[in-house]
Amino acid sequence: MTEPKKTVRPEPLQAVKGMNDILPPESARWEWFEAKVRALMARYAYANLRTPIVEPTALFVRGIGEVTDIVEKEMYSFEDSMNGDRLTLRPEHTAGIVRAMIEHNALYNGPLRIWTNGAVFRHERPQKGRYRQFHQIDVEALGFAGPDVDAEQILMCRALWRDLGLSDDDVRLELNSLGQPAERQAHRAALIAHFEAHAHVLDDDARRRLLTNPLRILDNKNPAMQPVVEAAPQLMDFLGEASLAHLAAVRAALDAAGLAYRINPRLVRGMDYYNLTVFEWVTDKLGSQGTVCGGGRYDGLFEQLGGKPTPAIGWGMGVERMLLLLEAVGVAAATASPDVYAIVPAASAMPTAMATCEALRSAGLKVQMHAAGADAWGSMKSQFKRADASGARFALIFGADELARGAVACKSLRDAAAPQRELVLDQPATWAADLLIA
Ligand code: ATP
Ligand code: MG
Repeated sequence: MTEPKKTVRPEPLQAVKGMNDILPPESARWEWFEAKVRALMARYAYANLRTPIVEPTALFVRGIGEVTDIVEKEMYSFEDSMNGDRLTLRPEHTAGIVRAMIEHNALYNGPLRIWTNGAVFRHERPQKGRYRQFHQIDVEALGFAGPDVDAEQILMCRALWRDLGLSDDDVRLELNSLGQPAERQAHRAALIAHFEAHAHVLDDDARRRLLTNPLRILDNKNPAMQPVVEAAPQLMDFLGEASLAHLAAVRAALDAAGLAYRINPRLVRGMDYYNLTVFEWVTDKLGSQGTVCGGGRYDGLFEQLGGKPTPAIGWGMGVERMLLLLEAVGVAAATASPDVYAIVPAASAMPTAMATCEALRSAGLKVQMHAAGADAWGSMKSQFKRADASGARFALIFGADELARGAVACKSLRDAAAPQRELVLDQPATWAADLLIA
């Protein structure tokens, strides 16, 4: 006789570092948040759009800028092993959306307001509020020159905070203008001169940026560099009349809507494509990952990607950070609990219970029905435990005695003192109203 073969279980695999599974009940908070966003977009008449997760690497190099953190060190780029194409997992939504607009000539009939939601990828050091796969709600107004849509896009963020139950001090608005390319050129020359005059205090990163992207030195967080960063010439002083008028009009609209903000002349944003209006929504409830949403105008991007000149503005919001913020301030999401948990004492009652649950679902009730476990049907005790854990308001008990009488027992799981009732088995459609009002 041969020994029974021992099965060798393979080592379980793990998710890629910095990329998270979103399991229940956490996923219910995501759905709740996404439903709020979807309703907001409908109210502002923004249409949904979806683009591929994988794009040609060249799109982001041209779109985001060669000497940005994202393109220099955060992109997941690879070669398609079938044909050698250089591809990248999108690190943000805007470049892909603009590509799609150009490719489909989608603005032919006029400007568009659109939004999307989905995973983006950046190779960063994972920590709270910073992941390698994360999710962004992204909103774009394409073909509008502003400043009206600039204000609209900022105000729709505030509307979302209110819908979510956040208060005005949970998130604050920071606003700046990056002017136009010629103004930035003049500022850039002045910046280089300033930092060159203080070359001895620059750190390695700043010295490298001096030659490539001196504006980004203003983003330097090194404490030793702060005096020289603070004394640097400000772009605001280089803005011409038109740029200043644009900013003033955005401010007038925000003021009229009663939205407070801070002008932050050091707000530069991580992509090269921005001009004029830029903004961030920040919170102090999340430590150093305090920016929950950022955006701005990018009037030059369509041309840079081979399209016709098209003014546009957009913002991106980090879903994970938003959910962390909601948790930190104690906003409770609506739960996804069923209305009814169906307790099935014996397998013989299963077909009747199944048919009844189907009828209840058709009538609009959320129903979770007991199903057999791996090694046992499940005792009444364990079924009641699961019914409680499900968060359902009622347990329906498909006991043999009741079924023989053509009835089902109904017990409140919220109110222990409420008497048990019997419902007539062949009228499940009428139970919906009965149970939901009860
Ligand atoms: P940060 O300065 O925190 O790196 P960013 O300027 O790179 O942010 P954006 O490119 O403007 O961020 O992206 C929009 C939003 O996406 C951010 O405001 C933030 O909420 C979120 N976000 C950015 N990077 C990450 C990440 N690695 N993990 C989770 N959320 C992120
Ligand atoms: Mg970043």
